[in-house]
Amino acid sequence: MENKLKRGTLCVQGGWKPKNGEPRVLPIIQSTTFKYDDSEEMAKLFDLEATGYFYTRLQNPTNDAVAQKIADLEGGVGATLTSSGQAANFYAIFNICSAGDHIVTSNEIYGGTYNLFGVTLKKLGIECTFVNPDAPEEEIQKAFRPNTKAMFGETISNPGCNVLDIEKFARIAHGNGVPLIIDNTFATPINCRPFEWGCDIVTHSTTKYMDGHATAVGGVVVDSGNFDWEAHAGKFPGLTTPDESYHGLTYTKAFGKMAYTTKLVAQLMRDLGSIQSPQNAFLLNLGLETLHLRMPQHCRNAQAVAEFLQENEHVAWVHYCGLKGDKAYELGQKYLPEGSCGVMSLGLKGDRDTAIRFMDSLKMINIVTHVADARTCVLHPASHTHRQLTDEQLKEAGIAPDLIRLSVGIEDVDDIIADLRQALDKSVQK
Ligand SMILES: *Cc1c(COP(=O)(O)O)cnc(C)c1O
Repeated sequence: MENKLKRGTLCVQGGWKPKNGEPRVLPIIQSTTFKYDDSEEMAKLFDLEATGYFYTRLQNPTNDAVAQKIADLEGGVGATLTSSGQAANFYAIFNICSAGDHIVTSNEIYGGTYNLFGVTLKKLGIECTFVNPDAPEEEIQKAFRPNTKAMFGETISNPGCNVLDIEKFARIAHGNGVPLIIDNTFATPINCRPFEWGCDIVTHSTTKYMDGHATAVGGVVVDSGNFDWEAHAGKFPGLTTPDESYHGLTYTKAFGKMAYTTKLVAQLMRDLGSIQSPQNAFLLNLGLETLHLRMPQHCRNAQAVAEFLQENEHVAWVHYCGLKGDKAYELGQKYLPEGSCGVMSLGLKGDRDTAIRFMDSLKMINIVTHVADARTCVLHPASHTHRQLTDEQLKEAGIAPDLIRLSVGIEDVDDIIADLRQALDKSVQK
């Protein structure tokens, strides 16, 4: 029923359903703990035999309402809020991988995720193979091993601004009996719902467009409920065999389509504890209430800005999938027909200093380590977010050293373009 409501309605009304006499607005349940009348009731909660709240590290009513809204927006069966986007991607993988396992990922992904997969997961004994997402299927297939447990990509890559061929990735993942996990941060469910194209699990850094105002770091993992863990039981013993830390309960048998989400909360949240604070979930919910209004404005502004930049004499190149002739245009039209996002990349004619002069000349537009919020901002990945990558790795991740990432906000587009124009003019002056 909830899934039948249109996305604009879900943004405003989804999640929190007040009962008679309860607050109309989602309340912040700022309580670590919950009270029960007798110890038997509480014991059932610990055994996962009954549902209810007992400790906020596991579940909190504010968080659950917001997670439900996001699950409905993505068309999933369950969602879990996490303390950050990093935690979301870590949990999404670690929920089905352990030491000795392997994952295959697009190499065009966020710098933080690149490190998480390439460096930190390795320390935990999980290996990762990075593939060029535009390579032919046979080529990508070669990255798979018998111990591969998941495939990963980003709908729109940060900061490369390429669009993932989701159907191709889903075909390859499923051909190898593993789920496809997609980070849908930049597109948001307003512009793309990866589950409709065969993806199994979606993650977000809610820090970006979902919050939209740059107030709260957060993440979410959403499960479609579509991947058949039992059909590949040997690969996913964590879901299909008894969990000794829960009295021998088997997640797929006990929870069906909710198996992945239940395990993520009952095991990973219990043991690792990267919850989102209820305060942040409240702020995230306020952001979500206008997501369907903000995304089209980000896209309209970005389209106008990209067209302006393309025509400007000081600009060497602009990469935005809304531009005809762009490398990502065709995939953008297929997967993001209503618009992509406000983020684009560009390079200026000149050297590294030209890029720095340009950024330092901007007035209304600020240099910040952020993207995808209401305020237009710029960043130079080679000297900021991705500075730990070697030139070789930068190239592999699709990031030119002169690449400037521009995140177009929802201000009046005339003012955005005027600021860019004056800074471009100054960038060439000695
Ligand atoms: C920012 C970002 C992340 C990391 O999210 P945090 O909330 O900063 O931890 C992951 N993936 C993408 C695509 C991002 O843009």
